[in-house]
Parts: sequence; structure tokens; C-alpha cells
Amino acid sequence: ARRKLGKIKKTRAVTLDGTEISLLANIELPSDCASAMESGANGVGLFRSEFLFMGRIGPQHELPTEDEQFESYRQAVVAMKGRPVTIRTLDVGADKPLSAEEQTALNPALGLRAIRYCLAEPQLFLTQLRAILRASAFGTVKLLIPMLAHAFEIDQTLAIIEQAKQQLRDEGIGFDESIKIGAMIEIPAAALALPMFIKRMDFLSIGTNDLIQYTLAIDRVDHEVAHLYNPLHPAVLFLLSTVIAMGRKAGIPVSVCGEMAGDVKFTRLLLGMGLLEFSMHPAQLLAVKQEILNSDLDDLTLQTKKILRSTEPSAIAAAVSQMRATA
Ligand code: PEP
Ligand code: MG
Repeated sequence: ARRKLGKIKKTRAVTLDGTEISLLANIELPSDCASAMESGANGVGLFRSEFLFMGRIGPQHELPTEDEQFESYRQAVVAMKGRPVTIRTLDVGADKPLSAEEQTALNPALGLRAIRYCLAEPQLFLTQLRAILRASAFGTVKLLIPMLAHAFEIDQTLAIIEQAKQQLRDEGIGFDESIKIGAMIEIPAAALALPMFIKRMDFLSIGTNDLIQYTLAIDRVDHEVAHLYNPLHPAVLFLLSTVIAMGRKAGIPVSVCGEMAGDVKFTRLLLGMGLLEFSMHPAQLLAVKQEILNSDLDDLTLQTKKILRSTEPSAIAAAVSQMRATA
């Protein structure tokens, strides 16, 4: 099957009715760009920048400097040869712990993680933003902010980005003045108050890993409750379909970059919801593309509407696997 999939590496991901879907790669380090390119990705949809920091925060450790970060981001941008690279700002905490000595929160998933941490450490955040902005002079970079829930967090973040830009201007250092800034939609409150994000952001990316965790109140790393982690829970489907539909209506790009986007079991359901951008581990990309090439959007849209109206979880699960079997 692998060899067969290799044949579609250079094929554009177009549905049977002619809709082009963008397939992007999730990466952790710039060296992952090689497999992203190898899989034929249209760009990087999620660069989890925390992997440059992990194990390096805390009293005994030294943070990556602005120059060191800049070099990593620039490497990724250059390796993707003009394709967009979406760099997510630091998302430490919870399942991606800071150094052990700093992981003291009782509920790390609900604690000072991601953008909350960055806004509490503005100097660290500013350094990262400067590094990312500098890399934007070498290709197409987009800035993605994790774990936003409040309007004031968005506004503070935008103000710090503007501060970073102004510093670079004052220093005569080049960057992309019109760099796109987007929000991860991964807290239910963000999905439920979407207009607040649409008004302020250039694009949205749904993080299903956390969105499911917080919607169902299930710790994503606790094995005791792993059986309750259900991407097809009607509440999850409601949030996903609402965000995708509202984003499209407002003309703002929406992607999914959580595990759901790379799971072929869900490709057709997401297509049926109107999703046009999928970001996933490069190893999953060709299998997802194969699903897309054999998909008829009109048919999937109808099937998805029915699924979203269903009140019977077993019927939803059956209908979603049926989607895969047909078409
Ligand atoms: C997510 O939450 O779905 C996501 C893509 O981010 P991470 O898995 O890094 O939290
Ligand atoms: Mg997340």
C-alpha cells in the first residue's frame, strides 16, 4: 500500500467534484521539514516550537537565545522552499512540561500553560516573536497562538507582536510586515465565542487534541479515562462543525491540526463539515490524500448533516465508518 501511495505524492489533493484541499505537515523540529517535503505537504500547518525549549526552562537551564531560535525558524522556512510555515508560539505546560522542577501545578492542563505562560513572561515571549518575525523575511511565515480564550489575551498578544515589530523596524531588521496571525481554537470557550476571534485574527486552527480534552473533561494523558476520549461525541462534533462553518461564512481560513486531521477514519466527516485545510504528521499525509481523491463533497455534506442531527452515539459511529466504506 505504501508504494501505491507514493504515486500520489505529487498529485494535488482534489476531490471528485474539483475542490482543492490543502494538506499541511505538523513538525516539532526544523529537521522534520525533510519528511514534510517528502510527503508532498503544501506547507507546515503546525510547527510546535516548544520542542526547541523543552528541558531548557528553569533555574539550571538556558533558554534558546533569539539568534538560536531565529536560526531554527529560518532553517524550516528555507527547507519548505516558499511554502507557508505556521509557527506556533511556545506551548509549554501540561503534557509538554517545563523542566521537572517547574511542573508543580495541581492541574497543569488548566494551569499556566501556553499563551498564559508567555503573557506572564513577556520578555521570553518578545524574544521568540522577534526570532519568528526575523525568519519571516526568508519566506512565508504565519504566527499561531495557542490556548487563547479571552479577548484581553488576544489584544495583549497583538500588542506584544506590534512591540516586537517596532523594535525590529527601529533596528532596521527586515521582516514580513503583513505576517498573518492566527489562533488555535482548542478551548471550548474559544469555539463558543468564535466571533471574538474572527474579529481579531487572520486565520484559525482547531486543535482537536485539547478541544476534546477540555470539552469532555478528560485528561489526554490519563490512561484511566482514555476510553472516554471520543472525537465523535456529539458535543465535539457540534463545536468542530460550528467553527468550520462560521469561519467559512466569515471568509477566514480554518484548519484542523489536531490528531483528528491525520486520522483517515475522520477525513470524510471533516470534508463534509466543509474543512479545506488539514495539518498532520507527515507519515499520515498520503493516506489522507487518497481518501480525499475518492471523495464527493456534495454527497459527504449531506451525510454529515444527517450525522450532526443524530442523537444516537452508536448511530453516529456507524454512519462515520459507513462514510469510509462507501464512495
Ligand atoms: C491540539 O491540541 O490539538 C494541538 C494540535 O496541539 P498540541 O497537541 O500540541 O496540544
Ligand atoms: Mg493543543
